[in-house]
Amino acid sequence: MKSMLAFVLCLASIVVAQAQLKPPTETAMDRFLRYAKIDTQSQEDQSTTPSTRKQFNLANLLAKELTALGAENVRVSEFGIVYAMVSGNLADNSKVPVVGFIAHMDTSPAVSGENVHAVIHKNYQGGDIVLPKDPTQIITVAKNPLLKTLIGDDIITADGTTLLGSDDKSGVAEIMTMIDTLKQNPQIKHGTLAIAFTPDEEVGTGIEKFDVKGFGAKVAYTVDGEELGEISDETWSARTATITFQGKSTHPGTAKGIMVNAMYAIADYLGRFPKDMLPETTEGRVGFVHPYAGVIDVESSNLKVLLRDFDLSGLDAKEKMLRDMVAQTAAKFPEVKITIDVKENYKNMKEVLKNHPELTNNAMEAARRAGLKPFLKPIRGGTDGSRLTFEGLPTPNLFTGGTNFHGKLEFNSRRGLEKSTETLINLVQIFAEKS
Ligand SMILES: [Zn+2]
Repeated sequence: MKSMLAFVLCLASIVVAQAQLKPPTETAMDRFLRYAKIDTQSQEDQSTTPSTRKQFNLANLLAKELTALGAENVRVSEFGIVYAMVSGNLADNSKVPVVGFIAHMDTSPAVSGENVHAVIHKNYQGGDIVLPKDPTQIITVAKNPLLKTLIGDDIITADGTTLLGSDDKSGVAEIMTMIDTLKQNPQIKHGTLAIAFTPDEEVGTGIEKFDVKGFGAKVAYTVDGEELGEISDETWSARTATITFQGKSTHPGTAKGIMVNAMYAIADYLGRFPKDMLPETTEGRVGFVHPYAGVIDVESSNLKVLLRDFDLSGLDAKEKMLRDMVAQTAAKFPEVKITIDVKENYKNMKEVLKNHPELTNNAMEAARRAGLKPFLKPIRGGTDGSRLTFEGLPTPNLFTGGTNFHGKLEFNSRRGLEKSTETLINLVQIFAEKS
């Protein structure tokens, strides 16, 4: 009975504490809408970081805003990465680990991020959402059951001509709003926080330039996930294979007995991919192989293939299969020289994070305190955190409230942004409480 009373009192004090919070100077929603307008699309296969200069526009703006919010040591690196520190307000900040928060500024090269006009569907009352500038773009309840949880919320979409850029300007806006809220509410106790906003996440190269040591965090979170409550401490292990088919080109008029057309060999190889091991036929924890790009030419053809699996043994098996397929095609086309080169991209971060269960546990607790039902979801992809985790900075991924990334049907909502922000504020408090 006594513990029950203590529990109720404790709960009441949490509710009171939240109720008494002074609002941030700008809401997560307003902040997000401002950032969404800034075109930060990254580009594949560029030799520079950031891949597009325009990403500096948001980086420099964020640096200015961080300084205005009282952050310290604010800097934008030559690679367009924004770093900052938010000092703790504890009697002894050294007792609490420096927790990092990271979001990426760029948007996917897949869909235009120029002239993003966000549309707010106020007080959503159910039903499909037709995007105003292109009525063929429809967010249907059938394909987005998440909509059923958003009745009465203000849903944010693009206008049908671009992506929204919720991935990952939601994460950026939520981290900034957390900092703002902490500044307005010194009664919220927290340790020192390290902040970073990165370019080129979507093309996978920005994180290569990340200064883990200079960042100064002991542990970190990327804020780059999807629906409310979704926390990820597991990603693919990933490799990329390049298969090259070397033929011999000559003038077709005098080609008899000389020409070796590599195109037939690449066609044969493509035909060998098992239909049940492709992205379009797999989900959940099942990995895939994915031929995604190539060059088709008489003299030299090549094919790029993604290999993905949550388990390293499964990944090894997929690599072996691609090599076996090379041998089979080579036997059929002895005059075409076929080579395969496999590169490691990243590994499942769970291999490291299993030794840091408090990171996931604290995030789950933070989400629960925000009134959410947290759940773990393995990511069928990689995050900047996958790489950081293996560089000594354990970094699981937190939700942002957004969904349908990399497409015109992307959306988030006011509650999505606010509850994600609230979770971040709870999280820094939990780290302080537990230390
Ligand atoms: Zn993202």
